[in-house]
Amino acid sequence: MPDLLTVTPNGLYCAAGDFYIDPWRRVSRAVITHAHADHARPGSDRYLCAAPGKHVLRTRMGASATIDTIRYGESLTLGDVQVSLHPAGHLLGAAQVRVTHRGETWVVTGDYKLQADPTCDAFEPVCCDVFITESTFGLPVYRWPDPAVVAGEINAWWRANAAAGRTSVLLAYALGKAQRLAAMLDPSIGPIYAHGAVMKLVEAYRASGVWLPPTDRVPPRSRKVGGGRGLVIAPPSATRSSWLNRFGETTEAMASGWMLLRGVRRRRNMAHGFVLSDHVDYPDLMKAVELSGASRVLVTHGFSDVVARLLRERGLAAEVLTTRFVGEAPPDDAASDDDAGEGEGDDADAPVTAEAASSRTTTTTPRAASG
Ligand SMILES: [Zn+2]
Repeated sequence: MPDLLTVTPNGLYCAAGDFYIDPWRRVSRAVITHAHADHARPGSDRYLCAAPGKHVLRTRMGASATIDTIRYGESLTLGDVQVSLHPAGHLLGAAQVRVTHRGETWVVTGDYKLQADPTCDAFEPVCCDVFITESTFGLPVYRWPDPAVVAGEINAWWRANAAAGRTSVLLAYALGKAQRLAAMLDPSIGPIYAHGAVMKLVEAYRASGVWLPPTDRVPPRSRKVGGGRGLVIAPPSATRSSWLNRFGETTEAMASGWMLLRGVRRRRNMAHGFVLSDHVDYPDLMKAVELSGASRVLVTHGFSDVVARLLRERGLAAEVLTTRFVGEAPPDDAASDDDAGEGEGDDADAPVTAEAASSRTTTTTPRAASG
C-alpha cells in the first residue's frame, strides 16, 4: 500500500483525501496544524484549522482567506479519508492531524509540547500506526525546567530591574511564546507593554477567550514609557531598531529553548536567558512517540537524523522526512527572528522580518544536527 502522506513539491500531500498539510506553496485545500509562518502560508484557496485557532489564523492569513474549522476530536470526511484534529499544546489552536484510510492511521504532530501552557489546550496523545514528529530539540541535552520555576525567575528578574529603574525587555516569538509569557507575568510588579506584532496576537487570543493580563500598546513617539518599571514583550528584531529607545534604560532577556546553551546566550549578548520552549524536549519527544503506539515514525524538522537513529535503536521503523518546516531556529540563525510572517507591526518604527519563512528550509537545522 502506498504511503498515505507523501512529500511533494507543494508540501505534505494526502492523495486519497486530496489535501495538503501545512503546504509551502498555494494549494486548493490546506489543513493547518498551527499559524506559525513556516506552517501557515498565505494564498491557498481553503484552509482548515481547529476552531480555537481561527482568530489567530485569520490574523495571519488576512480577511479574505477562506478558513473552515472543526472542533478538536470532530471527524471530517475528505475524499476517501477521515480527518480529525487534536490538541498539540504548541500554541492556541495548534493541532495534530489524524488521517485514517482503510484501517491505517497517520498522525502529523506539527509543532508540539507536553508542558503545561495556560494559553492553549494540552497535548492529547493520539494512537496511530505512523507518527510524523518534529525534532526541533531532539537531542538528549535538551530537557526543560518546570515552567512554574521559569515564571518565578522571569518575575524576579523583572522585579529587580524595576527596583533599579530599568525597563525589562523580554524577547520572544510574537505568536504563542509572547502570549504564554504574558500569562506567566505578575502584573503587580509594573505595567506590561507589547510590541505591535505581539499586540495583534494578544488581541486574537483575547478574542478567542484566552485570559491575558492587562497589556498596553506603546504610544507612538512617547519617551520613557513605563517609568522604568515596565516590562516590554517584543520580537527579537525589535532590538535592531530605535523602537526600544522610548523606554529609557533597558535590560534585555530572551525566552527560548536555545537559552539552555551558554554559547547561544553569549553570542546574543544576553546576560539573561530564560529556558522556555513551545516544543517538546528530548524526554517528552520519546514519551510522545511511545504514547502514540506507532510502529513507524517519520522525523522532520530539527535533529531528525539523530532522532530517527535513536528510535531505530529502540526497535521502531524510523526515517527522516525532509520538509520545509523549521520549528524554532536558533537565535544566531539569520532566519530565527520572530517566527516571521507577522509582516509589518502596527508601529512603523518597529520592522519585523517578514520574508524569513520563505527562505527557511531544513538547511537551517542547527549545525549540531550533523555532528
Ligand atoms: Zn510552530
